Amino acid sequence: MKNISILGSTGSIGEQTLDVIRKNKDKFKVSSLAVNSNIDLLIKQIEEFKPKKVCVYDEDKYKLLKEKVNNIEIFWGMEGLLKLVKDEDVDIVITAVVGMIGLLPTLKAIEYKKTIGLANKETLVTAGELVMKKAKENEVSIIPVDSEHSAIFQCLNGERNKDINKIILTASGGPFRGKKKEELLNITKKEALNHPNWSMGNKISIDSSTLMNKGLEVIEAKWLFDIDVEDIEVIVHPQSIVHSMVEFKDKSIIAQMGNPDMRVPIQYALTYPNRIENDFERLDFLKFNNLTFEKPDLNTFPCLNLAYEALKKGGTYACVLNAANEELVKLFLEDKIKFYDIPTLIEKTIKNHNSIKSPELKDILNADLWARDFIKKEILNR
Ligand code: NDP
Ligand code: MG
Repeated sequence: MKNISILGSTGSIGEQTLDVIRKNKDKFKVSSLAVNSNIDLLIKQIEEFKPKKVCVYDEDKYKLLKEKVNNIEIFWGMEGLLKLVKDEDVDIVITAVVGMIGLLPTLKAIEYKKTIGLANKETLVTAGELVMKKAKENEVSIIPVDSEHSAIFQCLNGERNKDINKIILTASGGPFRGKKKEELLNITKKEALNHPNWSMGNKISIDSSTLMNKGLEVIEAKWLFDIDVEDIEVIVHPQSIVHSMVEFKDKSIIAQMGNPDMRVPIQYALTYPNRIENDFERLDFLKFNNLTFEKPDLNTFPCLNLAYEALKKGGTYACVLNAANEELVKLFLEDKIKFYDIPTLIEKTIKNHNSIKSPELKDILNADLWARDFIKKEILNR
């Protein structure tokens, strides 16, 4: 029996993780759950999965939950998240919160030698070097949940890193694939949230529409697989059947495929190195007899290049890219800025940043705050 802590249990990844657990109650037990504020759904999850501990980040909602639920330990805020992940009962922490808020709990979980099922990509984008170093020192496995990275992880089973020639990340292209910049100047959040292949949380859906999601995934791949940025390619594959590929130095390519269903990589992260049966739909190749591949359109979607550039520059640039993006996506979701304000202001933030080489945690946290502040001032002064 593996004991699981899920940070972000009410989100898209969180709920799908619970679905995998629901179907395998003989193998997994929920130790703890954490959410931001959605206590109505959390109460249902508590009733079904009976965790020993929960955390509600929002203090008011935490107080409300305390009035409604007893016989269970309830925490709040960052301190609460840190308490959950270090619990001696926990074997695996699934980091399914959205945003760099996941960084400190992930570092704490590593310190306490918990296996990490990593969905929260912003953690590695912000502090990839530091997180991977800590994981190595503590001999902790970080198992990717993001479908592309799970694919690469699976393709590399039994292979040697030095035999890799290229990592080929596939991208669906998002809801605006094929469109030109002029057509996207005034698009609404409703249009941007309408992803063709995946149903996901709002933040990652906007990131997919700008192609920033793929940019964040390039950075995530660099740290997870210790690969030079020049050896990570992005190719648009609108059907989302090939989840990613690895090309080896003999030019042999291994791809991992399947229906677009996040429960597959989530289940693999929970069962690794084993595989278990499930009732998910089989991939019917005859329905997909036309798998296509195309170049990403970097003029229409500048965010992908911004991420590549930030990664190449190193230091705290990727952290700043991520923080600016988080703030701008929030503003776009509040209808306060336009679609192309996102890349324009990220570029401006990066240009104005004084990066720190080989940053420590405090440098990363400072850079994150600086970028958020920079964006707020830019918006105020408009
Ligand atoms: P959602 O927005 O659907 O869910 C986010 C979850 O995090 C919610 O449970 C939310 O709680 C919780 N949360 C947010 N802030 C805090 C906080 N401060 N403390 C505790 N809990 C918090 O996001 P997704 O599930 O779509 O994405 C989660 C992560 O996984 C992201 O980093 C994303 O990039 C990554 N990912 C997602 C994929 C997907 O298919 N959805 C695919 C690959 C990666 P509440 O409900 O109370 O707000
Ligand atoms: Mg992905």
